[in-house]
Amino acid sequence: MAKIKFTYNTETCRYEPVILKPKHVMSNIAGFLGVSLMIALGITYAYHSYFTPVKETRLLVENHDIKAQWDLLDHNITSLTDEIKQLEIRDDNIYRTILDVEPIASTVRQAGVGGSDPFQDINTSDTRESEMVLNTYKVLDKLKKQMYIQTRSYDDLEKILDEKQRMWNSKPAIYPLNYKDIRRTGSGFGWRSHPIFKRLKFHSGLDISAAHGKPIYATGDGIITTTRYSKSYGNVVYIDHDFGYETRYAHMSAFTVKEGQTVKRGDVIGYIGSTGWSTSPHVHYELVHNGKHIDPVPYLNKNLSEEELEKIIEASNEHDLVMDY
Ligand SMILES: [Zn+2]
Repeated sequence: MAKIKFTYNTETCRYEPVILKPKHVMSNIAGFLGVSLMIALGITYAYHSYFTPVKETRLLVENHDIKAQWDLLDHNITSLTDEIKQLEIRDDNIYRTILDVEPIASTVRQAGVGGSDPFQDINTSDTRESEMVLNTYKVLDKLKKQMYIQTRSYDDLEKILDEKQRMWNSKPAIYPLNYKDIRRTGSGFGWRSHPIFKRLKFHSGLDISAAHGKPIYATGDGIITTTRYSKSYGNVVYIDHDFGYETRYAHMSAFTVKEGQTVKRGDVIGYIGSTGWSTSPHVHYELVHNGKHIDPVPYLNKNLSEEELEKIIEASNEHDLVMDY
């Protein structure tokens, strides 16, 4: 049962029940709600006044950290770009120059850069941050393509280098005898008076004299194509060096290789002798390039001293010293 409030009436000198009219009830309710609202607003304001700075401070710290990391990333991307540029320069100006290969055209190096925008889906916002992210994606994509082209270039250069290496190893480039074993170098490449027929005859090789039995070496990598005895050459060995080169070694006392055998530069292929049309122990050394005999002297070991090489060239021009015919 609701409590009834009483008030003292000074006119009637009696306690009389307080009868609340609806207007007063509404006024009281409005007052209560007003005070409640004020209290609620006060609490909310106090909450935000205290807590918001903490949240903002945290966000500011996070933002600062992200910016520092972004700057570091940006710095690393710039360094990477510089390094790739250096690799490209070294590739074009050093490796390709040494290997005698054309530099990669800039249009090829830039291949795939540009064209349709593969990042259009990312470009959904025009904020500065979104633009930074988009640009970074583009730079990384460009670097990825440059790296791919550079890697392919190194693969190509490796193959070219292997082939050049094979060519350098195959090309006849040393003396067929150990220099200390050489007694003298006789007739060289060219026309000379034939010792028996007394008329000019072309001498197609270089005669090098050494003691009987001294080793004769392959002057480059290759495959033995001929080992035989012929009336004029005596025991002779032919080596196919590929790249159009062939060498022949005649008048051997014996050969140590078989047809079809692979030899490396410096391998012993036989021994000094005087078989066939020969007047004294020596090797008749021939060099054939693309089917034509050429002078072997310019292909001899470049490690010889100038004096030694000069002696050989001088002797090879001395056609009176005839060792074979
Ligand atoms: Zn000869």
